[in-house]
Amino acid sequence: MAVAVQEQTTGKLVRISGPMIEADEMLGVGMGEIVRVGKLGLMGEVIRIDGDKVYAQVFESTEGMFLGEPVVATGAPLCVELGPGLLGATFDGIQRPLEDLRQSSGDFIGRGITAVALDREKKWPFAPRVTPGQAVLGGDILGVTQETRVIEHRILVPPRMTGVIAWVAPEGEYTVTDVIARLEDGTELRMMHRSPVKQGRPFAKKLLLDTPFLTGQRVLDCLFPIAMGGSAIVPGGFGTGKTVVEQSISKFCNAQVIVYVGCGERGNEMTEVLSEFPHLEDPNTGESLMSRTILVVNTSNMPVAARDASVYTGMTLAEYYRDQGYDCALMADSTSRWAEALREISSRLEEMPGEEGYPTYLSARIAEFYERTGRVVCCGVLADSETPRIGSLTAVGAVSPPGGDYSEPVTQTSQRVSGAVWALDAALAYRRHYPSVNWNRSYSLYFDALKPWFEQHGPANWITLRQEAMTLLQRDAEMQEVVQLVGPDALQDAERLVLEIARMLREMFLQQNAFSKSDMFCGLEKMGGLLDILLNFHEACRETLKREVPLSRVLDLPIREEISRLRDMSNEEFPAKKADVQERMKQALAGLQAH
Ligand code: ADP
Ligand code: MG
Repeated sequence: MAVAVQEQTTGKLVRISGPMIEADEMLGVGMGEIVRVGKLGLMGEVIRIDGDKVYAQVFESTEGMFLGEPVVATGAPLCVELGPGLLGATFDGIQRPLEDLRQSSGDFIGRGITAVALDREKKWPFAPRVTPGQAVLGGDILGVTQETRVIEHRILVPPRMTGVIAWVAPEGEYTVTDVIARLEDGTELRMMHRSPVKQGRPFAKKLLLDTPFLTGQRVLDCLFPIAMGGSAIVPGGFGTGKTVVEQSISKFCNAQVIVYVGCGERGNEMTEVLSEFPHLEDPNTGESLMSRTILVVNTSNMPVAARDASVYTGMTLAEYYRDQGYDCALMADSTSRWAEALREISSRLEEMPGEEGYPTYLSARIAEFYERTGRVVCCGVLADSETPRIGSLTAVGAVSPPGGDYSEPVTQTSQRVSGAVWALDAALAYRRHYPSVNWNRSYSLYFDALKPWFEQHGPANWITLRQEAMTLLQRDAEMQEVVQLVGPDALQDAERLVLEIARMLREMFLQQNAFSKSDMFCGLEKMGGLLDILLNFHEACRETLKREVPLSRVLDLPIREEISRLRDMSNEEFPAKKADVQERMKQALAGLQAH
């Protein structure tokens, strides 16, 4: 087969403005094309074309470059490498493995270094799943390899390709670049392929979102649950707990593959993740968390343009596992830093600024990002006997509104295009009520669609318990207002009881300590059990008050403290302990006398 040798367009650097450069003599270079900038060959992406001149955002620091240095077109858009070896890895925004980069150039990432994402030497055991003569198309599984103990990596025919298998490699060990199959037209297929990041990977069909994406966080799963394939944003001012929420979800959610994008935030937070994750267990499989996680890191000290790349890199990696039929989650902390990067580049391009200096296309970019989530039927030929392969991609984006002002453009836009808002609240965080999710300002649009699932698979009476908890919080808010106006003495005992139970609800249910081994993850059963005993206690107390027992005696019962402490039982020991406390609670209340 003849390979056309394309002459590379080489132009000259005519202007450098921070992360943005201009080069002329670049006729024929396309939008989104990757260029190599300067003698160091830094990676840049063409973001505007004007005659023979191109403007590119450069993913590495442009310091020390000179005008007149060459700019070379590569003919390809920004792509990621997809294949076994992604799980457990840490990449920078343009998918260079951080481990390798650190080794080759000390603590800093050497500029112009082109490190490949996937190990070229490592051999993976490959088991074929196709036979010669078989017609295939993009998305079909050529074969499988056990990537980690929990994830079987399905080697896919690259998107949009069609053909007939002429040859497939026998079972054996291969590197990601070894040819493992050949089509009748001569196309060679390997365990890895490349995919452009700014374009969503194709799927056959979007499905309804009817199963929950469980986070193990009570306030989220109970009050504001999202669906597998849905999206949520976590807006919150500095220090309200966005990163803790994102990290807790990465650790404990029921997705099978997690891509965590640290975008423009402090580097030490990512170091914490790197040191903590390998030692933590996935509650769903008992395996180390890193065996299902990919980290994409673009911290605040790294070049601003690479933030833009990191978000798309993360999304594409997650889509790739979705296409293999897995439930994937993308965590992005923080999407505001990404938006700020867009703003900086836009202002350097001297574009007409929109609201608060953000580019006018900000909302389109954010919308496109969340539109790549979903639950889908994967691409591929479907034999009659086969059930369709289904994958999903759920996204949770942190948003950092300056000064906690939710009316700013990034929060507003993100809110419009995501299905849930978990609004963090500085006042709650100040009182150390964590997660500081404000139950009055947060919402989820998924709950109704998830109801049948919860009715069938959730804890007993889940829907009712949840509704009662919501009502309690509402009555609490109303009565707090009364207390503010006329003082607590105006309330009847039964009303004061509501305030006490609501306080217990906040402290033992809505609050959740991300740093306590027994509390950091809460399964649905324990959630249901906690609500159940609390609401039972409320009911039993009300009955007791009817017997004219004074409220103070009810509240003084030591059993109250024991109910609260159930929160610190592990998911395993909880059921037995709950049954015991519930029994003693009944006895304690029954034993109370009116005088
Ligand atoms: P942000 O990312 O919004 O700036 P962080 O996620 O870094 O805020 O949280 C700030 C601090 O708040 C954490 O270091 C921790 O001390 C506390 N915190 C947040 N969430 C929790 C939680 N669920 N349990 C205990 N402490 C928390
Ligand atoms: Mg943070």
